[in-house]
Amino acid sequence: MQDPFCNEEAYSKTVFYESDYFRVLYDLRPVIRGHVLFVSKRHVTNLLELNNEEIGDLHKTFMKVIPAILKVYGATDESYDITSQIGPYSGRTVPHLHFHVLPRSRSDEYQNEEKNIFDDLKLNRTHFGASDVETEVKKLRKEFGYKPKTK
Ligand SMILES: [Zn+2]
Repeated sequence: MQDPFCNEEAYSKTVFYESDYFRVLYDLRPVIRGHVLFVSKRHVTNLLELNNEEIGDLHKTFMKVIPAILKVYGATDESYDITSQIGPYSGRTVPHLHFHVLPRSRSDEYQNEEKNIFDDLKLNRTHFGASDVETEVKKLRKEFGYKPKTK
């Protein structure tokens, strides 16, 4: 199986923040606007493989990026979902450690009882088109002062 998170081409268009050990990307198939991924730079499949330094860096990265994302996407009362599927029986699709962060608000479409954001995370990832993704990446790169490497 292809591992997009070990392939620079796959994330170069969507990364908007980098720490020593993690990259933060806008999801190519976002379930909700502001759906981002925290991806380890080192190839590991399990959270429990991270060493103390990487765990510390992950925490710092969450502390820096999550509040900014919530602000940008108007998530009310600091609401967000954070999820990671780890191991072959978890429902994961890419066996490289990553965390989904989904900003939530009082008025988002998933407040409707008929719709479950976790069902959509598995099954329905076609809410937004490529140009919408591009717009959001541009916005987040500006917010975080991220300069993409030019070829
Ligand atoms: Zn990998």
